[in-house]
Amino acid sequence: MSTFKAPKGTYDLIPPQSATYLAVREAIAEPLRNSGYGYVETPGFENVELFARGVGESTDIVTKEMYVFETKGGDRLALRPETTAPVLRAVLESNLHKAGNLPVKVWYSGSQYRYERPQKGRYRHFSQVGAEAIGTEDPALDAELIILADQAYRALGLRDFRILLNSLGDKECRPVYRAALQDFLRGLDLDDDTRRRVDINPLRVLDDKRESVQRQLAGAPMLRDYLCEACKAYHEQVRELLAAAGVAFEDDEKLVRGLDYYTRTTFEFVHDGLGSQSAVGGGGRYDGLSEMIGGPALPSVGWALGVDRTVLALEAEGITLDIPAATAVYAVPLGEEARRVLFGTVTELRRAGVATDFAYGGKGLKNAMKSANRSGARLALVAGERDLAEGVVQLKDLESGEQTPVALAAVADEVRRRLG
Ligand code: ATP
Ligand code: MG
Repeated sequence: MSTFKAPKGTYDLIPPQSATYLAVREAIAEPLRNSGYGYVETPGFENVELFARGVGESTDIVTKEMYVFETKGGDRLALRPETTAPVLRAVLESNLHKAGNLPVKVWYSGSQYRYERPQKGRYRHFSQVGAEAIGTEDPALDAELIILADQAYRALGLRDFRILLNSLGDKECRPVYRAALQDFLRGLDLDDDTRRRVDINPLRVLDDKRESVQRQLAGAPMLRDYLCEACKAYHEQVRELLAAAGVAFEDDEKLVRGLDYYTRTTFEFVHDGLGSQSAVGGGGRYDGLSEMIGGPALPSVGWALGVDRTVLALEAEGITLDIPAATAVYAVPLGEEARRVLFGTVTELRRAGVATDFAYGGKGLKNAMKSANRSGARLALVAGERDLAEGVVQLKDLESGEQTPVALAAVADEVRRRLG
């Protein structure tokens, strides 16, 4: 072990488990690629103001969780705690929204950084795959994104997840509700921190996990009773489209989520096997975000799914993904001449697309065969001086143990025939 360890709240992805993470990313990306979403990648850091404005001054993310630093050049940057604001920034900067082809549909995959109290499922470095559909107001778009996330989770084999759905209203009806809620909350017995929250982000108080707060919230005005006709009709359409697609969801009037910029449709995917860090993903409509960061009005909707928690959800359900062995053929040379010849065969096989590995470092037969078995290969190629003198290589089936000599020139064809 070296003197150094991964920083607090982080962990490394190492083989073989790392293959599961890649497969999860791939499983989430696949339905997006298949539905008109293009890949976007933005820097791991941005001007801190982008998040302050785009995520919201009153959110935990901005007030407590951001890694902020100043560069030698004097710029104030933040490691990205989320990627919606960066993606919108990139779309606006590249004028994609002006190409006359709305919505702009993009997906991303990458690291996020939040200075949180580390616990199972909550890390300081974690990974999300996300999707954004920018510039169009259409309930079918909201439904599409929820359906695609559902499809991704199901493709992974997950069953014990639920979709929570709510509407947060829009700039017409939400302010009226916000004021009514503030009136109600100001009559309660709350600590100073929560009182401050009542002033700046009262909807967030509904989300308070503490029993003492939840008890007082009985009888709080509900947003549902304040939604304007347009928001009600919009929400009803999203619900109908989901139902028609056979995607089950639960109406959750208390679902507000952390970000200030959400409007109308808001949703969360929760997994019942994860304990307190139960949200595996979430998202919603953010019609006001573009204007908040200096762009034109661009009604948009998106989600971000957490890769780390999705892997934990797989574990909770006892699902092992069917990941093909990284290596199909393992070559074991015995002696210098065999090393030269077999290395040539390995290169040939690799160029032909066969996943092949090699016993490096002049290992003895016993050790090399152990490595061959550990690699997951189905076939081993073994050659010593006597084999080479006869112009053959021993082809060993690692499952049955059966071994047959194959002419050197015919090895590649024979291997491919055996692997099917
Ligand atoms: P939570 O309520 O658990 O803090 P959040 O509302 O902050 O979640 P989002 O910002 O919506 O989460 O991010 C979407 C997803 O990213 C979450 O559902 C979760 O799977 C994942 N995620 C968020 N924060 C972390 C973290 N610190 N560690 C691991 N995964 C995370
Ligand atoms: Mg959080």
